[in-house]
Amino acid sequence: MRPFDYHRATSPADAAAAAGTAGTTIIAGGTNLLDLMKLEVMTPERLVDINRLDLGEITAADDGGLRIGALVRNADLAADPRVRRDYPVLSRALLAGASAQLRNKATTGGNLLQRTRCYYFYNTAMPCNKRQPGSGCGAIGGVTRLHAILGASPHCIATHPSDMAVALLALDAVVEVEGTEGTRRRVPLSGFHRLPGDTPHVETVLQPGELITAVTLPPPAGGRQLYRKVRDRASFAFALVSVAAVVTLDDAGRIDRAALAFGGLAHKPWRDPAVEDLLRGEAPSDALFDRAADRLLADARGQGGNDFKIPLTRRTLKAVLAEATRETAA
Ligand code: SF4
Repeated sequence: MRPFDYHRATSPADAAAAAGTAGTTIIAGGTNLLDLMKLEVMTPERLVDINRLDLGEITAADDGGLRIGALVRNADLAADPRVRRDYPVLSRALLAGASAQLRNKATTGGNLLQRTRCYYFYNTAMPCNKRQPGSGCGAIGGVTRLHAILGASPHCIATHPSDMAVALLALDAVVEVEGTEGTRRRVPLSGFHRLPGDTPHVETVLQPGELITAVTLPPPAGGRQLYRKVRDRASFAFALVSVAAVVTLDDAGRIDRAALAFGGLAHKPWRDPAVEDLLRGEAPSDALFDRAADRLLADARGQGGNDFKIPLTRRTLKAVLAEATRETAA
């Protein structure tokens, strides 16, 4: 690990101002960042520690939703009685991620900003447009088991590793951001992460000097909430495919609303409104679920080593929809 300067932030504005200078990185839980620094994938000249800021509370929002401070630990968020009761898909997604030790340390804001687990991103002997723009992509033509089937580009085929963000996307979460001078803005999570395009090193819409201060959830949507994660081993593994579902039925048993978000498929948590439109107002059936999978996967492209994700995603989506509609209809 290379030497770096250390600054303990005294306020969100102080952290934002410090983070706006070149070579500076914010540290909270550090569960991903410290690994990246040890491997010299990231070599910040200065760390801004935000752990002493007052961003660690979960509070009721004025509209009946929930406001989750950026420093709320993943373990605390998963165990919160309001989350378990009203947003169970979020609790389940959190508990499907990492290990108990990491969840005790990892934060809400940091979870959103964690970096891809592309093998070549972590191997500094290999080209990587995300680590070193313009150097090429070592993954294309290489080992691609974890890589994207949707939204990839010739410059990067990495996936976003978060489980939490997939559930938050299905719940229509909004990210609160504070900049220097105390300026604030709210960014829907659906617009927070970016596809790689020709700038895969730019992963979110955060601007230099902006800090995540909270994530807000709308009032509880009810319905049946599921999180299904398919991975290579039962714990401490990233998703090959994951599905977060919030499904409500009408009195006739037809699908009133199906909010569906996917992990392991793309450079960002993936949500396709056309799939949800296709399901709305329809009676659940195997044929309907096949049509939804057809729509979701219409533009899917494998890289060889991850071709299996296309049929796996179909099976996982269909199983989740069958369970969600069967349970809510009962
Ligand atoms: Fe780097 Fe993206 Fe290629 Fe992985 S897929 S080597 S992160 S450019």
